[in-house]
Amino acid sequence: MTCRKIESNVADLLFEPDTVPAPVQAHVKECADCRRELADLRSTIKLMDAWQAPELSPFFDTRLQARLREERNSPPAGFFERLSARLLFNSNAHLRPIAATALTVALVVGGATYAGFSGWRQPPQTSATVRDLQSLDNNHQVFQQLDSLDQDDDDDSAPSAN
Ligand SMILES: [Zn+2]
Repeated sequence: MTCRKIESNVADLLFEPDTVPAPVQAHVKECADCRRELADLRSTIKLMDAWQAPELSPFFDTRLQARLREERNSPPAGFFERLSARLLFNSNAHLRPIAATALTVALVVGGATYAGFSGWRQPPQTSATVRDLQSLDNNHQVFQQLDSLDQDDDDDSAPSAN
C-alpha cells in the first residue's frame, strides 16, 4: 500500500471512514505523511463549513445601477477617461475582453511611466507601490463593472455561447 493509493480514497477517508478498505485504513494509521495530509484537509473542511458568505446590503444592486448610470451619463473629463468609457460602454460586447486587457496594459505602462518621471527630480508624494495598488484597485473596479455589464446583457438576451 502506497501513499498514492490513499489519494483515491481521500474523500471516503474524510467523510465515510468506515467504507474505506482495511489496507488503506492500516496505511493511514502507520504513515505520518498521510495522517498529516488528512488532518490538514479536515481542518480546511472545518473552516469552509464555518465560513459564511457575507450578506449583500439590500441597496447594493440599486446603488451599483445608479453609479453605472451616473458613469454612463457624466461627460468624461480627460482623454483617458473618454477612451476608457468608450471601451467600457460601447455596444461591442465581444471586444470587451480585449478592451479590458488594453486598459490594463495602459494603466500599468502609464503608471510605470508616471512613477518614473515623478521619481526623477523630486521625491514622489506617494510611493510607487501605493500607486501600483491604486491602479490595481482601478483595474478591479473596471472588471467589476464589466462583470455587471455582462450580467445585464445576460438578463436582456437569450443565453449565448458564453
Ligand atoms: Zn502514506
